[in-house]
Amino acid sequence: MMYNPEKLRIKDQRMKPFIDADEIWDILNKSKSSPERVREVIAKSLDKNRLTLEETAVLINTTDPELVEEIKEGARKLKEKIYGERIVLFAPLYVGNYCINNCQYCGFKSMNKDLIRKTLTKEELINEVTHLEDDGHKRLILVYGEHPTYSPEYIADTVRTVYSVKSKNGEIRRVNINAAPLDVDGFRVVKSAGIGTYQIFQETYHPEAYAKVHLGGVKRNYEWRLTALDRAQEAGIDDVGLGALLGIYDWRFEVMGLLRHVNHFEAAYNVGPHTISFPRIKDASSLNISKDYLVNDEDFVKLVAILRLAVPYTGLILTAREPAHVRDQILKFGISQIDGGTNIQLGGYAEKSRENQNLNKEQFQINDTRTLAEIMDELIKTDYIPSFCTACYRKGRTGEHFMEFSIPGFIKNYCTPNAILTLAEYLEDYASEETKKKGYELIDKKIKGLSSDIKVDALKERLEKVKAGQRDLHF
Ligand code: SAM
Ligand code: SF4
Repeated sequence: MMYNPEKLRIKDQRMKPFIDADEIWDILNKSKSSPERVREVIAKSLDKNRLTLEETAVLINTTDPELVEEIKEGARKLKEKIYGERIVLFAPLYVGNYCINNCQYCGFKSMNKDLIRKTLTKEELINEVTHLEDDGHKRLILVYGEHPTYSPEYIADTVRTVYSVKSKNGEIRRVNINAAPLDVDGFRVVKSAGIGTYQIFQETYHPEAYAKVHLGGVKRNYEWRLTALDRAQEAGIDDVGLGALLGIYDWRFEVMGLLRHVNHFEAAYNVGPHTISFPRIKDASSLNISKDYLVNDEDFVKLVAILRLAVPYTGLILTAREPAHVRDQILKFGISQIDGGTNIQLGGYAEKSRENQNLNKEQFQINDTRTLAEIMDELIKTDYIPSFCTACYRKGRTGEHFMEFSIPGFIKNYCTPNAILTLAEYLEDYASEETKKKGYELIDKKIKGLSSDIKVDALKERLEKVKAGQRDLHF
């Protein structure tokens, strides 16, 4: 069904393998860091240019603390320049944790007999979505184990169910998915349900390290996974998310692997990935993994800054796997999306079980347990505009991921006004009086910053309409 070796073989003949571990190590070993070279590379990125593998390796090989600070400062500047001050919010929603694979790092692995297995019924799914809407969410990512039950038709069905749930003024306007690789026909089926981004993580780009931790099931096949996004693309899904799970192999190699994947995408389809994720391995039920490659906080911040500089146009996602203090610190180095009020237990949003995590009911430990309301308060306090914007995808502005990056005034004309309008919806429908007051103060301040722009009047007009009860106004 989903895994079709014959199709993979045919595809392999057409497509040259794009990860060569020796080549990556060779570039890493040859690229030398010097103050001049590091500054040159940062300047190139600040000029909105993508970095090459060699240039990225220069940053990776930089260990002098002052130069590392310059890399972080460069990433901060680039974020301000390109993404403005908005942070997009979403929530993960786990639909089912049955799995035929045996990924050593994951609580869902089939050999884990302690895990309490569950697939949400349709009623439970609707209940979860209702709770998420009642908190103020507009964007979800649905997550599934890999199991014959979770067929393309099943996934498409759950996506449609989520879109159909309307609670008070609430609705989910964008459903992304993180699911096992499908074949092209399977991707067509899930696309037909109107998914936003299809996200899949390669886990590790190093083939031997990959083989060591993927002990059973379809996921043992490195190439089938590596080529998943090519099949998605062939099926017309042009909004895709890449990722590497940090802690399986050397993080320096994984950053290069991610970049190599981006290069492949640009060369083959003339689009880049919509997002890149870089989760660190967290505690999980029956976790069984060597500690040799776990990434410390210092290297983590550095690698996020490097990714920001290397691929300036792509969104970077930082999830609640990381504790609040790490998330708050890293936001300024180029993160564009975070999850809020996260609960990854099956049925957990309705049960409100966030404080008492039971690892036998979830994939891994969540370390930022703040509610969405608490995260909203924190973002507003620190001058970010929390955004629930889903405009581009609904206006058909997809695929061309260079947009925010390359079209002058894109952020000013679309992203910031849409962030403000969706924040106002949140303030009207879900916020406490205190948050509402602070939120509107922030909006006033941000609008003043936009004052020379032609869209300000249109924005103010729409803002008044939101206050009067209209919803889903966007540019
Ligand atoms: N079954 C699908 C698959 O393997 O592609 C869905 C993946 S899983 C539900 C989402 C991601 O969580 C995985 O791709 C992996 O990178 C990450 N993950 C798994 N175990 C983890 C752990 N212990 N800590 C942090 N992230 C983990
Ligand atoms: Fe299954 Fe995905 Fe977990 Fe692997 S990472 S055991 S495929 S749910």
